[in-house]
Amino acid sequence: MVIKIMLALYIAMEAEAQGILDALDAQLLPQQPIIGTYYQAGDILIATSGKDLATGVDCVGTEPAGIVANDLIVHHGVTQLFNAGTCGAHSSLEAQIAEAFLVSPTIFSHDHRIPLPRFEEFGMGAHPMPEVVPPLAKKLGLRTAILSSGNSLDHTERDLEIFLANGARIKDMEGSALAWVCRQHDIPLTCLKVVTDIFDLPHPAAEQFNANLAQAAESVTAVTLRTLQEWGLFDN
Ligand code: SAH
Repeated sequence: MVIKIMLALYIAMEAEAQGILDALDAQLLPQQPIIGTYYQAGDILIATSGKDLATGVDCVGTEPAGIVANDLIVHHGVTQLFNAGTCGAHSSLEAQIAEAFLVSPTIFSHDHRIPLPRFEEFGMGAHPMPEVVPPLAKKLGLRTAILSSGNSLDHTERDLEIFLANGARIKDMEGSALAWVCRQHDIPLTCLKVVTDIFDLPHPAAEQFNANLAQAAESVTAVTLRTLQEWGLFDN
């Protein structure tokens, strides 16, 4: 029996997704969900987090990511998820702005603290990433890093303590939610993160993020397309 792989990309922000949508000539799906915006390019589904009704901004963060990932798997037959987006890097990683990382071996949460037996472990995540990620990173000439997610662009002292104790070096707002949903469904997740800011510098992450988003988005597009090429899903 041949099992068809159905790949979806999840990209939280429209600005991060636009280059990929253009390059793949993706079309808006005629039927749209309430949460998320869905596009199709050949056999590939591309989902962004969509716009929040109340504020009009992209629905960054864990809730939309989890809802959309579950919908893609349950209602659209997705069997493999690829997340591409931006991240903050800890200064000890000595990353360049716009450097791309594949996430391996794990994704944690640093703001999901539940100090009760077993719940602590649940909140922390520690979701394992597929073993094929390091060889893929090698092929693409990228470094790997442990990712930790939280629902804030900034961080508290306690967030940072947990982040470092878990060996994380890059920080985003969606990875742990996608990883949790994929783990529940036993679906592989590949996570590509491009650095917009060095988040532990005195200069606020938000200002660095805005200054570097365009450059990082170009790198998100380029590396996503190279990955799709590697998987035989895009040729140019
Ligand atoms: N200030 C931005 C808000 C974007 S939120 C704006 O005006 O548009 C940041 C997004 O980039 C999230 O999707 C998150 O996953 C990622 N990100 C980049 N740097 C981050 C950091 N230092 N901490 C957490 N998430 C970060």
